[in-house]
Amino acid sequence: GPIEPLLAVKGLSSGYGPVTILREIDIEAAPGSVTALVGANGAGKTTLMKTIAGLIPAWTGEIRFDGQDITRAATHHRVDQGIVLVPEGRMVFALLSVEQNLRLGAIAPRARKNVSERLEDTFRRFPRLHERKGQLAGSMSGGEQQMLAIGRGLMAKPRIILLDEPTLGLAPIMVKQVFAVIEDLRKDGYTILLSEQNSRLALEIADYGYILENGRVQLSGPGPELVDMPDVRRLYLGR
Ligand code: ATP
Repeated sequence: GPIEPLLAVKGLSSGYGPVTILREIDIEAAPGSVTALVGANGAGKTTLMKTIAGLIPAWTGEIRFDGQDITRAATHHRVDQGIVLVPEGRMVFALLSVEQNLRLGAIAPRARKNVSERLEDTFRRFPRLHERKGQLAGSMSGGEQQMLAIGRGLMAKPRIILLDEPTLGLAPIMVKQVFAVIEDLRKDGYTILLSEQNSRLALEIADYGYILENGRVQLSGPGPELVDMPDVRRLYLGR
């Protein structure tokens, strides 16, 4: 039969104060897949991720994770379920070391066991972080800080990783490296919801993509199919 989605969002609306941002959003993420949310600055990608993570409340609609209704669950409950947000802007602790940042990723109850094993796994995935484990996070390059933010997310034992704009402000070579990391994570079975302004690159690697505009899903489909649609190219991919 069809694979049950790990994450299923239906008819979701939310916003800030009196201002509606998300309007009747329907999205799904299949286990072990990369699902891309693309669209211009301000389309609502970050708001959607924050609503899924429970940082802002849903107004209407439903969020299901692994079959459970979590629409009104507290943020910490979602963290217990393995919903891990790697926020836009990385948000590493600048004055703590790389290793301290990683260990802080593992403070949630579900992540407290086998921390040293997971740290080793993370260092294996990101040799650069291993080399620099004693260095202050704030002194690392933007790309390194992004790898650290992802590593910290992995320390939390995610069942889904919400990756918000991981390539924002990075040099092209680092953008490529971040996309390579995302593909590696999928190879290892991780489920990823990826928000990206780099729409073309994101859709090219995405199993499934959603194009957001003004808080609505305008189009969706397998990533590479979206990239091949002339209207998508013209309207959203700049050529
Ligand atoms: P970006 O890539 O800039 O994060 P986005 O697609 O993620 O873009 P959001 O950050 O979700 O978009 O923003 C959607 C809309 O919500 C924008 O119009 C933004 O101005 C507004 N917005 C975001 N945060 C707040 C807030 N805390 N209070 C009020 N409005 C907000």
